[in-house]
Amino acid sequence: MNLSEKDLQYIWHPCSQMKDYEELPPIIIQHAKGMYLYDTQGNSYMDVVSSWWCNLLGHCNDRINQAVKTQIDQLEHVIFANFSHTPAITLCEKLHKIVPTGLEKFFFSDNGSAAVEVAMKMSFQYHYQTGNPQKKRFMTLTDAYHGETLGALSVGGVDLYSELYKPILLDVIRIEAPDCYRCKYGKTRNTCHAECFIETEKSFARFGNETSAFIIEPLVQAAAGMKIYSPVYLQKLRTLCNEYNVHLIADEIAVGYGRTGKMFACNHAGITPDLMCLSKGLTGGYMPTALTVTTQKIYDAFYADYQEGKAFMHSHTYCGNPLACAAAIEVLNILEEEPILQTANENSAYFTNLIKHELENFSYIGDIRSIGLINAIELVKDRERKTPFDASYRYGYQIYKKALQKGLLLRPLGDILYFNPPLIMTRDDMKKAIKICTSCIKEVLETKT
Ligand SMILES: *Cc1c(COP(=O)(O)O)cnc(C)c1O
Repeated sequence: MNLSEKDLQYIWHPCSQMKDYEELPPIIIQHAKGMYLYDTQGNSYMDVVSSWWCNLLGHCNDRINQAVKTQIDQLEHVIFANFSHTPAITLCEKLHKIVPTGLEKFFFSDNGSAAVEVAMKMSFQYHYQTGNPQKKRFMTLTDAYHGETLGALSVGGVDLYSELYKPILLDVIRIEAPDCYRCKYGKTRNTCHAECFIETEKSFARFGNETSAFIIEPLVQAAAGMKIYSPVYLQKLRTLCNEYNVHLIADEIAVGYGRTGKMFACNHAGITPDLMCLSKGLTGGYMPTALTVTTQKIYDAFYADYQEGKAFMHSHTYCGNPLACAAAIEVLNILEEEPILQTANENSAYFTNLIKHELENFSYIGDIRSIGLINAIELVKDRERKTPFDASYRYGYQIYKKALQKGLLLRPLGDILYFNPPLIMTRDDMKKAIKICTSCIKEVLETKT
């Protein structure tokens, strides 16, 4: 039995129809370096999706490896209630200097979905303990993605992940998300005034008083297909949330850490959320760790004599794991000491121009959108009408399979292909990736039936 067969004998893979593995068995990765993964058969794959958007500075980064190795001989893990350690303290001290002003307190958990659950529970409990127990609903955008646990799934809006579970999810208030490619108001993202915000205003007028928090992926709805919208929307949302005493939860899990060209997506709008969720890039993609960062004001509403029962009684076994903190500190050291973000920003227009040059005139390309090094290519059946392909043809998946044969790990979202590479991607790798991607798109779509 080879390794792939053995894998399938035991392992149920995430976000997969396991029957698909009959045709495309799991690829067994033996080692990795920088942008590249190497399998046991001697093939390599350029990881332009950062292994689900978490790998920030390349695989097996020498500095992060060393930081984790040093830490593991000191302390691997310790209970985090009433105990602490230098890596956690140093990490929060460093992060405090760079998160949006006004965010003061750091709550650890161990994955992005958990950080979202923490934010939702904190928000509700804050209102409960400050005389507003009626504030118990959450507002969210259509097409949002906030994770897979039941609370996080409730505020998500990507039907592929949540539709089936509706009967067991929370009753949330869902607002039509900005859609800059198919803008109803005929505007463009760079010059609009977020005219679509009118939908949000209507919902606040109706439901603002019973709403605890509005949760949003700032600037990019990533899982929806890297849908990018104007920072003006976030500014208007900040103002409206203040007016209605509704918390703004910024889920920066995918877009934080320089993915949009600034350290946090909220920076583009110059806003401070009441709660901010971080994971993925936080540890450079090394370790499952997450943070929910919040204000002194929210923290204070929980601070009381024990008997008052106001504590936040939430915990995860691996809260504040020292190995993860060591990796996360080194990520920040690297970003401070090396011009990584600056170089990524210099390369970002180059990357987009290259994609446009190769693909803009191809008839099945509906939209090419970008921010930072995130670039998405939306395939459509009819360019004029912007009509999508029938999803059952799975063109995106076919392109994905072809690209793997040519050494590129693309993993599209439906028929939206995207690049969300580590910030260290070089121009040579960009050229190479786009060349492969273009040829796969053309091979699949020019020969389609
Ligand atoms: C990935 C992601 C999550 C969930 O994080 P997990 O670690 O996979 O639970 C939540 N929100 C956003 C925006 C994400 O991209």
